Amino acid sequence: MDLSYILNELGEERENYFNAISPPIMQTSNFAFKKVDDLRKAFEDEMAGYLYSRGINPTVDILRKKLAALDGAEDCLVFNSGAAAIFAGILANVKAGDHIVSVKAPYTWAQRMFDSILPRFNVSTTYIDGTDTANWKRTTKDNTTFYYLESPNSWDFALQDIKAIAALARSKNIVTMIDNSYCTPVYQRPIEMGMDMAMQTATKYIGGHSDTLGGVLSGSHAMIKKIFDSEYLNIGSGIQPFNAWLLIRGLRTLSARLDRISRSTRQVVQFMKQHPGVESVIFPLDESFPQYALAQQQMTGACGLFTFVLKTTKMESVARFCESLQHIMMAVSWGGHESLVMPKCSGIQPKDFDPGNREHRFVRMYVGLEDPEYLVADLEQALAKMS
Ligand SMILES: *Cc1c(COP(=O)(O)O)cnc(C)c1O
Repeated sequence: MDLSYILNELGEERENYFNAISPPIMQTSNFAFKKVDDLRKAFEDEMAGYLYSRGINPTVDILRKKLAALDGAEDCLVFNSGAAAIFAGILANVKAGDHIVSVKAPYTWAQRMFDSILPRFNVSTTYIDGTDTANWKRTTKDNTTFYYLESPNSWDFALQDIKAIAALARSKNIVTMIDNSYCTPVYQRPIEMGMDMAMQTATKYIGGHSDTLGGVLSGSHAMIKKIFDSEYLNIGSGIQPFNAWLLIRGLRTLSARLDRISRSTRQVVQFMKQHPGVESVIFPLDESFPQYALAQQQMTGACGLFTFVLKTTKMESVARFCESLQHIMMAVSWGGHESLVMPKCSGIQPKDFDPGNREHRFVRMYVGLEDPEYLVADLEQALAKMS
């Protein structure tokens, strides 16, 4: 399906709403019925029609059609956050006594679920270096039912060989889920590579303007129906109609924003690579990246997120660099219009800072929609103030 068709037309039945170009926000909690029989049918299968907006809502449906098509999936659900999508996708597919294999250092709230919530229900998790497919096989036990991937990882950008891991999982009846937030389905298509579920935060590139949260979980009809009937309705964290409308609006420019951002990012990466204040740059589509070949094989592009390692021995220098930026802001998240930095040392106590540990000198940068020259100038003056 054409990307342009998905973003501009798919799911939009304009003749039903005065041929308005922009779809209506169906800000309603419930839907009325004329016949008892129809109401009974709606109770029997809440996913099949409009009953109550915790389940299905027309504005959200437009978004679902577009996002499922974008993923090349049969269906999808849209949640109020990426974290909720992760929660539902995992919870729906594990039971007491099960074992999960996950990439090490997955997204914070996936890890929190594995470490704090699931052990209460006797579900255990083994973290592995997912870059070596043999590790997945080696740590799989008789009770392993779930593989959790995140490729690239959003800090060190470690990749997994998605096709190989999907094939391994299929041969052992293991359910697979991948966090595809970094690439979005525009640059990487995990469902087509054999993953059972693809998750992405819609807060980042789908919304694109740092003004709403959302999360997407795509998969087969059967998988999505299973999750809808239980976790989705129970957690009650389906996206609200207004936020769904913001995401539909974000989708209009998704391709244009990604084009611009991926080009600017290469320019900013090139600048940082040659700067004497920078030890190295970690970016999956740079030749220096250890898994560059795999990145080229399974990704058709990279987004605006990369990490650089500052050349310094002092935490104060990392702080001085970040605090000297005039335009690039310091904040969590990414995927919006605005460029951001996030120093890894903000997550550790100052007394624990170890310059020998290069991770402590990581600064993750997100390149937004500004002119790349504007960003480079800001980085250059802040690097000059570092030492
Ligand atoms: C932000 C993010 C999420 C979670 O999304 P929210 O919408 O913030 O809940 C998941 N995975 C990755 C890689 C992210 O960057």
